Amino acid sequence: MGLNIVFLGPPGVGKGTQARLLAKRLGIPHLATGDLFREEIKNGSELGRKAKEYLDQGRLVPDEVTVAMVREKLQGAEYGEGVILDGFPRNLEQAAALDGILAERGGALRTVILVNASPQVVVQRLSGRRVCRAAGHNYHLQNNPPRAEGRCDIDGSELYQRDDDRPEVIQQRIQVYTETTSPLVEYYRRRGILIEIDGERPIPEIQERILEALAVAVNDYPKIQI
Ligand code: AMP
Repeated sequence: MGLNIVFLGPPGVGKGTQARLLAKRLGIPHLATGDLFREEIKNGSELGRKAKEYLDQGRLVPDEVTVAMVREKLQGAEYGEGVILDGFPRNLEQAAALDGILAERGGALRTVILVNASPQVVVQRLSGRRVCRAAGHNYHLQNNPPRAEGRCDIDGSELYQRDDDRPEVIQQRIQVYTETTSPLVEYYRRRGILIEIDGERPIPEIQERILEALAVAVNDYPKIQI
């Protein structure tokens, strides 16, 4: 397997936006577990029914469900050149499972990009976020508005507010991040593969800083040039 990257950070920090930009730039597919769950819910599948109650409450879907879904996805031929993971792993058990899944394919996790911001900024970003129905492209009412109100610039589909971007659920998601996901920061820092990026900058500047940091950390990958 090629270049495997994880995006880590609190909900609403903009890691999905950055992960998509980077995926396009490097030609490596982006895989977001939250998007996969929302897709399953939209399709009314068995997995979607199981996941929905967790998403609605801002809690983590059980590891066995999530890990099995990621394992199956990563078997796809399109991930042969690597993957940019967004929203996975979210706890230490998932991190260990990811190492196993990548090792099964003869690969390893190369870099973890932590995009960080203060809780106040995160709440502001989550409450203004709008998402497109067709493909989950992200916008923000103030920071990144669409050209035409309520329509996705890329595919023209309707923009909506995610159920879990309501204030009650936002607090719960931030708590889950702090208690369960944030220990991964130290875990990956100790492994020496963590890149830390200030997520309170404008979108293009964050992307530039990610590319600069990657050019140092992954200097053997030809497509990373600034
Ligand atoms: P996101 O789109 O990344 O904010 O994820 C939305 C929701 O999907 C989360 O609040 C969880 O309920 C669920 N979810 C996404 N990724 C994971 C994961 N790695 N483990 C467990 N639940 C997840």
